Amino acid sequence: MTTYKLLLLPGDGIGPEVMAQVERVVGALGELGIASFETETDLVGGAAIDVHGKPLADETLARADAADAILLGAVGGPKWNGVAYDIRPEAGLLRLRKDLGLFANLRPALCYPALADASALKRELVEGLDIMIVRELTGGVYFGEPKEITVQADGSKRAVDTQVYTTAEIERIAHVAFDLARKRSGRVASAEKHNVMKSGVLWKEVVTKVHAEHYTDVQLEHILADNCAMQLVRRPKQFDVLVTDNLFGDILSDAAAMLTGSLGMLPSASLGAVDARGTRKALYEPVHGSAPDIAGQDIANPLAMIGSLAMCLRYSFGLGEAADLLDGAITAALAGGARTKDIAGAGAKVLGTAGMGEAVIAAL
Ligand code: ATP
Ligand code: MG
Repeated sequence: MTTYKLLLLPGDGIGPEVMAQVERVVGALGELGIASFETETDLVGGAAIDVHGKPLADETLARADAADAILLGAVGGPKWNGVAYDIRPEAGLLRLRKDLGLFANLRPALCYPALADASALKRELVEGLDIMIVRELTGGVYFGEPKEITVQADGSKRAVDTQVYTTAEIERIAHVAFDLARKRSGRVASAEKHNVMKSGVLWKEVVTKVHAEHYTDVQLEHILADNCAMQLVRRPKQFDVLVTDNLFGDILSDAAAMLTGSLGMLPSASLGAVDARGTRKALYEPVHGSAPDIAGQDIANPLAMIGSLAMCLRYSFGLGEAADLLDGAITAALAGGARTKDIAGAGAKVLGTAGMGEAVIAAL
């Protein structure tokens, strides 16, 4: 059995608590002969600022570069609100994404059957929902130049953000989306606004070309991003894979996430290009943040973090069966009644972070 090298970056707030559960799951996967890992742990975010004076040390970046995959907890918290902008905790994560070229952000929005009883959560969930949002992560309006605020002659200000996309950037994200669709229901929706944006015109043109040349077995639909937002709320189950740019993806993935129940349940992957060895750089992290309000109390839900490990098995190592086993263990633990506070309805027996980790391992 191949032993994979994982770099664990627990980070801040509830990050270390949920990562501790992943470490136990990693141990159990080894003991059960399902998958074998060697792990190394390092600092990121506020935890790194406290020790190194910056949120990502060069040695840590080098370790991230050498690892087969990276698992990250969460960064940030009120303790570091006052630090300079360039060395804020989030800058560490942004540097990891940028320097490792992690251009494709995969965010599944999946509603677990055991949680579909919305009344228990006092929220409206969409039973059977299973969408994969593929968001372009390193281009677009968040990075385009010029990006500035200037003062005009009359003293008023002018702010500029620039949306830039190249053929190559759109091609590679399109490939990720179509490849994923082949392993799912075989449908891709591509969202942009070609009616008002030149970058949308190019996006549509390039996605159409990649589809025609390589993926005619996949069903492709183009959809305007505003209509897509409406459809996500109106009839979300029409979507399988949804590919879109950085800005629209940020917004649409948050909207889709909220159809599924809790922030504590949602994993994510950020993938880079496939290199000459046939491997790709990749970072896996929960969608939720450091949740300082509940840190250190053994109440955080570790399932988003554990689900991120399952994505790692699937997308970094091609261990689809092992990933299915782990996803199945999460589903089984929930079906068996395991609940953390954030997903507990009235009368449910509430487990702590460690208790939920145990429930998943028992199911595994
Ligand atoms: P960020 O800016 O890093 O995205 P945020 O402030 O937007 O962070 P979170 O830190 O994710 O958001 O927290 C939002 C809310 O969700 C908080 O009330 C938090 O306690 C809750 N929450 C987040 N993650 C979890 C979890 N794993 N388990 C339970 N509750 C969680
Ligand atoms: Mg947030």
